[in-house]
Amino acid sequence: MEEHHAAKPILQRGSCWRVGNGAAIRILKDAWIPNHPSNKVLHPSQNIDEEMMVSELIDLDSRWWDRGFILQNFNREDAEAILRVPLSRRCISNSLFWIPNKSGEYTVRSGYHVARQLAKELDWAECSKGVVGGNVWKTLWKLKDNRCEACKTEPETGIHALWNCRVAQDVWVGCSARQQKCPVGQVDMLQLLDELINSDELEQFLVQVWLIWHQRNVMIQGKQFQAPGVLNKRENDFTEELRRANTQLSISLTVSNPTSWRPPPLSCFKLNFNASIFKEHGATGIGAIIRNDRGKVMAYL
Ligand SMILES: [Zn+2]
Repeated sequence: MEEHHAAKPILQRGSCWRVGNGAAIRILKDAWIPNHPSNKVLHPSQNIDEEMMVSELIDLDSRWWDRGFILQNFNREDAEAILRVPLSRRCISNSLFWIPNKSGEYTVRSGYHVARQLAKELDWAECSKGVVGGNVWKTLWKLKDNRCEACKTEPETGIHALWNCRVAQDVWVGCSARQQKCPVGQVDMLQLLDELINSDELEQFLVQVWLIWHQRNVMIQGKQFQAPGVLNKRENDFTEELRRANTQLSISLTVSNPTSWRPPPLSCFKLNFNASIFKEHGATGIGAIIRNDRGKVMAYL
């Protein structure tokens, strides 16, 4: 699932290894030095092979850092940081901990800060998958000015790919929601959303946008295009499923605790997400929710 890939950079950035026996932690590639910039070795050393593990820096007899080897083979700044990393005399396995808060436990709030930080550092347009689970939304506004892959005629902007493009319009024409058949020609997605924001079919609109965007990504990967009707049916099924799930679970889509959630500035959207790791399955999962400046839910995954 794309969402899993999307969560990975955030988890990677926010997590650091707690060194146990050091096996399976790569010296140069992994983050394992707390309180060191990026938690990684800063100056790659010629004597350290890319695949060398942290366990090779630990003296087996004393179960402590091989001080001589480390001082000899690393830049002084790195060597000192490594020697400060606590080791356990017992042979314990390595574990990952989340850096941004003291407890080492992952929280939505801390994850959001890391995501924000990543967003500042990366050029979203360069990052085809986006970083946050709401990759659709982040990349949506910053599509590169390339030619549209679907019609090959117009430059691919967000509003083009998702709305104005004739390939997208083929899908919209078959969409069951009435409001979605409003005229084309909007300057950008914000203008379109402005026109639809009070529609009671906004949910359907967002699901269809998501499916068109997904289709666009599938196509870029060289895979087959789906007939517009297939996307309409999928939108129907998905919206129906969401409605049923919401009724059954009575999930409230209003902000239940306004003091812990602050709305974004006017005309902006705010993305919140939560991610978890399922150790047994070696997988990560992510949930995302997008709200507007009035706290109204715009989309969720
Ligand atoms: Zn197009």
